[in-house]
Amino acid sequence: MHQETILAGSLPFFLLTVLGKIGTIRLMGRVFCVANQKGGVGKTTTAVSLADAFAKSSAKTLLIDFDPQCNAASGLGLEPLQTAPFLPITESAVSLADLIVPAQIPNLDVLPGSRNTAEVEVLLRTKPDEVIRIHEQLQQTIGQYDFVLFDCPPSLGRLTQLALFSSTEVFIPIQCEFFAMEGLTQMIEVIQKVMEQKPEQLEFGGILLTMYNASLELTHEIEREVRDFGGEIVFKTVIPRDATISEAQSHGKPIIDYAPRSHGARAYMELCMEILDHRRKM
Ligand code: ADP
Ligand code: MG
Repeated sequence: MHQETILAGSLPFFLLTVLGKIGTIRLMGRVFCVANQKGGVGKTTTAVSLADAFAKSSAKTLLIDFDPQCNAASGLGLEPLQTAPFLPITESAVSLADLIVPAQIPNLDVLPGSRNTAEVEVLLRTKPDEVIRIHEQLQQTIGQYDFVLFDCPPSLGRLTQLALFSSTEVFIPIQCEFFAMEGLTQMIEVIQKVMEQKPEQLEFGGILLTMYNASLELTHEIEREVRDFGGEIVFKTVIPRDATISEAQSHGKPIIDYAPRSHGARAYMELCMEILDHRRKM
């Protein structure tokens, strides 16, 4: 908690002094950052399922795995990268485009994660100017897609900040369990600070209730609490708790491909429609 507070406090300075130098870049497509500093809330599942759903709507889609745990890649049956992308160019370094791999799904490309992605976090802390190079690399790549999704690590560190800074909308999955809203205010503060740096570029895409179990009173209590807090920014669609989702991941397939008639698949398709129906203000 203490460390996160320090991070949130240092954010405006970090962004103003470094990213502020390159100004606001307008993006053609929609770029979604799936973030929550808590682990196990459904970030990766949401990023993978939505990427799959967007790709199925014939949109050219890229999923970027920013988490050193590399679950987004494994959820699609892909191997993590051996070398972290974004590290300084060395003789053997390859461009970002060379690290992107096609998924087994038409229209879907993936920048897999790497166990070494943690080094990028350290690099951004120790050499903040490096963020300019990395941000530019990202922009060039992002510009080639209709939809891009960042699967963030469970922290509000530099990688999450960079993903937020590169995005047009942020989604916050919240698990319908005890302490669901723990850290939410802090997360929103970090998002608002990025928004102040990029007026009219980053929007609250929405808070998403995940692992929703309608038979539990606790779920309804949490839903009331989250909807009272978030109002219109909470998605109407909720993602049910569905064991088929974990099963699909163990087979390296998104839920919509693995079990298209399952509750989980239907919910993610509905969420995709809700997102596509929402027209960005800018
Ligand atoms: P995060 O990326 O936030 O850490 P994950 O998407 O990896 O969270 O989900 C954490 C675990 O919960 C995974 O094992 C995943 O299979 C499982 N899971 C995610 N969403 C659901 C769901 N709707 N129903 C049941 N299990 C889920
Ligand atoms: Mg994850």
